[in-house]
Amino acid sequence: MAPDQELKRKPRGASVTWLRSCLVLMVVLVGLAWPGYAAAGAPGRLKTGFLYGDIYLKHETGSGHPERPERLTAIVARLKQNGLLNELVALKPVPASTDWLRTVHTQEYIERVRKDCQGGSGYVDSPDSPASADSYQVALNAVGGVQSAIDAVMEGKIQNAFCAIRPPGHHALKDKAMGFCLFNNVAIAAKYIQQKHKLAKVLIVDWDVHHGNGTQAIFDEDPTVFYFSVHQSPFYPGTGSAEDKGVGKGLGSKFNVPLPAGCGDADYRKAFEERLKPAAAAFKPDFVLISAGFDAANGDTLGGMKVTPQGYAELTRIVKGIAEASCHGRLVSMLEGGYNTEALAASVEAHVRVLMGSAAQ
Ligand SMILES: [Zn+2]
Repeated sequence: MAPDQELKRKPRGASVTWLRSCLVLMVVLVGLAWPGYAAAGAPGRLKTGFLYGDIYLKHETGSGHPERPERLTAIVARLKQNGLLNELVALKPVPASTDWLRTVHTQEYIERVRKDCQGGSGYVDSPDSPASADSYQVALNAVGGVQSAIDAVMEGKIQNAFCAIRPPGHHALKDKAMGFCLFNNVAIAAKYIQQKHKLAKVLIVDWDVHHGNGTQAIFDEDPTVFYFSVHQSPFYPGTGSAEDKGVGKGLGSKFNVPLPAGCGDADYRKAFEERLKPAAAAFKPDFVLISAGFDAANGDTLGGMKVTPQGYAELTRIVKGIAEASCHGRLVSMLEGGYNTEALAASVEAHVRVLMGSAAQ
């Protein structure tokens, strides 16, 4: 090899080493900037979280009550049987601090829930909201479980999550239990996203067959929380007319789509495509929450709608698309109603499959 050729090779070798160092540095910097890289090894591969704990079975509502522990055991059994549990990131509940409950509920009400549950009266405020001795602790874990899921999304450990929780929350008012609900899980979740994680705007999509009167009342005057509800009307609790669009500064940030009994997939899809999508595009949420009741399912024992598991998959696809377009796919879904355990489990499976990124049923 001629000396001049030897001289030419050295700088080339040095530049390759230099390029390699730059590449390593870039990977490290991207990893630091986006924890998702560290958690999943590559972008777009973050998994879906599944939050569940046996503590949710300790909320006893009495013999024959539709809101019963078997709702959750049916969901878990179905996901296990069809091989989904292994693919999901298991998240465990923790009790929420009462400080977070106070972002939505009055101290007097929180104390009343505790006393009513532990005192053994069998309900909170009225028989409309049954409760057992452990129900206060269970309800704290429902709120805290959703908060854990939000943290996991924000820390880049998961892309999104479904929370199989009890008791449900969307009827609970700031100072009153209603419709099987003690603490308003989704409302506290929205406050948690804003105050703990410093995100400004939260979209709540509520497809439970009942209007989430508690959630709407809590945020009626708050333009930073957009509440969208499709529900059967006329029906319990009697709120959520199309004219009901929020109050004061919150006017325009509440969107109700009441539908008559008997509606199915096409009606729901139309409401989501034509009403929710443009409203969400204008609102540009920083985080999306779903009040995922499955009592609009075909065959539900309380609701009168006919939504199929495929229908719920389609609605999930639309909401997931909204989250991807506006807030990096940040989405946490939590159980509300759904009382036919078979229809509930099949609907949740379809919902979770889409959250996981699979179009298959
Ligand atoms: Zn419901």
